[in-house]
Amino acid sequence: MPRPIHAVIHQPALANNLEVVRRHAPASRVWAVVKANAYGHGIRRAFAGLRAADGFGLLDLNEAVLLRELGWQGPILLLEGFFQPQDVPLLEEYRLTTAIHNEEQLRMLEVARPKGPLAIQLKLNTGMNRLGFAPDQYRTAWERARTLSGVGSIVHMTHFSDADGERGIAHQLEVFDTTTANLPGEASLSNSAATLWHPAAHRAWVRPGIVLYGASPSGRHVDIADTGLMPAMSLHSELIAVQELRPGDTVGYGSLFTADRPMRIGVVACGYADGYPRHAAGWGDRPAPVLVDGVRTHLVGRVSMDMLCVDLTPCPKARVGSPVTLWGHGLPIDDVAAASGTVGYELMCALAPRVPVTVATLTVPDAPNVAETAPAK
Ligand SMILES: *Cc1c(COP(=O)(O)O)cnc(C)c1O
Repeated sequence: MPRPIHAVIHQPALANNLEVVRRHAPASRVWAVVKANAYGHGIRRAFAGLRAADGFGLLDLNEAVLLRELGWQGPILLLEGFFQPQDVPLLEEYRLTTAIHNEEQLRMLEVARPKGPLAIQLKLNTGMNRLGFAPDQYRTAWERARTLSGVGSIVHMTHFSDADGERGIAHQLEVFDTTTANLPGEASLSNSAATLWHPAAHRAWVRPGIVLYGASPSGRHVDIADTGLMPAMSLHSELIAVQELRPGDTVGYGSLFTADRPMRIGVVACGYADGYPRHAAGWGDRPAPVLVDGVRTHLVGRVSMDMLCVDLTPCPKARVGSPVTLWGHGLPIDDVAAASGTVGYELMCALAPRVPVTVATLTVPDAPNVAETAPAK
């Protein structure tokens, strides 16, 4: 018997979330962002759920090649572009669209002289200050790109720093529109937060990532609660032990939790070596939520490598073998992340290779997890 932990990737939820994106930005084409192995979901598994996208955005040439091997004929965008001159022939071989965000990449193209036509997304730094040409250099970069041999279309691209927050996007959008005024070419601007909340940034293309996987760009589940987004990943396990505590007993490494009354706790086969965050709180007034037997309870004590402990007070019938949901349907990954000082993005991406993954292809995404919970052998 394998350990009872397993993850389920819900392909219908991915397809649903792409539909939600289309409803928000009906006039835009969608780059489905599948970098980082589709935010931990697996490129292969995610592709089957997201194949109605207009294109896929990612970072790694190998992941781009995998999409071609899976039969994807449409556009693929390298969000950071390429890194070495020897990558240029691969752009042509696999028909990849590349971001160009710095001088070095322009120079590599000038030397490589691709036959083309190569599709480019020229990146403007509008204030994120990570990648992209400064506004006063952008037009020169655009002229250079345009006159390069082998360059086909040039799309204007930028990235927002605060589309999920107070500051918003207006300051960056103004820089973008001023800098690209009168230049021909489509625009590609919106991450998930801008796709949901800033229609002014819906141009020819939007580039959502996190919402496709059903989590919130802001890290707060309440911000997406009424969008119809559904979690694409759930993480499940079982209780493998139950302990009866007396007042004064402590739980786990560092004795960070002390019982102030008689209580039952359950031991779950899931720890930080499975990708569960070690910083999840098992003490204080905002402990991390967990579902046991479908009932919401919370962590007690510190998460260890292979196990974590939960309060069984709200679920007195729970016993060894009772099902546990760490995140997914009924328990937003954003809530677990918030109790761990991070965001859903990080938890998804950190799902450990040792966790077996099954794929749910037909289940209604909000139905109870019944048929699909058998772990892969
Ligand atoms: C990751 C990324 C996105 C998607 O961001 P989300 O917040 O997950 O929607 C979009 N554009 C670029 C350039 C990215 O690197």
